[in-house]
Amino acid sequence: MKIVDLPLFAFDDFEQPRAWPHQVPPHFTTAYFQADELRAASAYASELYLATAPYGTPAHAEAWNRKERMWQPSPVDGQYRDANGHQFDLFTAGDGYCPCPSVGFRANPECQCVKPGCVLAQCDTCQWRTFQRGEPAAVAAWHDHAFPGWRDLPVVPPSVKRRDDRMEPHRDLRQWCLDHYPAEWLALPSAPIVTERGGAGTRSVPHMSPWGGFDISHTLRDEVLL
Ligand SMILES: [Zn+2]
Ligand SMILES: [Zn+2]
Repeated sequence: MKIVDLPLFAFDDFEQPRAWPHQVPPHFTTAYFQADELRAASAYASELYLATAPYGTPAHAEAWNRKERMWQPSPVDGQYRDANGHQFDLFTAGDGYCPCPSVGFRANPECQCVKPGCVLAQCDTCQWRTFQRGEPAAVAAWHDHAFPGWRDLPVVPPSVKRRDDRMEPHRDLRQWCLDHYPAEWLALPSAPIVTERGGAGTRSVPHMSPWGGFDISHTLRDEVLL
């Protein structure tokens, strides 16, 4: 037998079939699951991916695509268990490879792969959730749920220092809000504030309001939601 007749590897060596141990299915889903269940299933899919070797094999690519099409916690997921009585859960999906063959130079019109930027914002306290395109819209939608009225807040101008040397909310920021925001608003647990931003720095940042809530870019007030 020549060397070229030998199979390089057998797929069975790399991934023994294992029963999927989660209620959350190993693919994209729009069914409702508790955020903790989504996190656990995502972590398990990541473990399977890391355990699937070697890099570059079909099994490895499949494990990657499975992981990427499931809901995965966003970097800012889980920041609040109780913000004004609501829980902040944020998941993304859809960075997996699209295997659909293109048609000429065009994307395949039959493609139903999950597209990047698919975001789920959720509040398990109320069993509320929304699907949005992109994290900014999802964070805005969550605030519509947890802090209705936030879009009408006074906007902190850029002349007010937002952070101190330790990158914590600046005392000038706190004072400006005390002078301009309704007192009832600042009494809300983890109250967000809205600040004027320029350029690319328009992410909503948790815990950067002096009251522990989000510092939201003014550009998000006009975010159009799905
Ligand atoms: Zn809620
Ligand atoms: Zn596709």
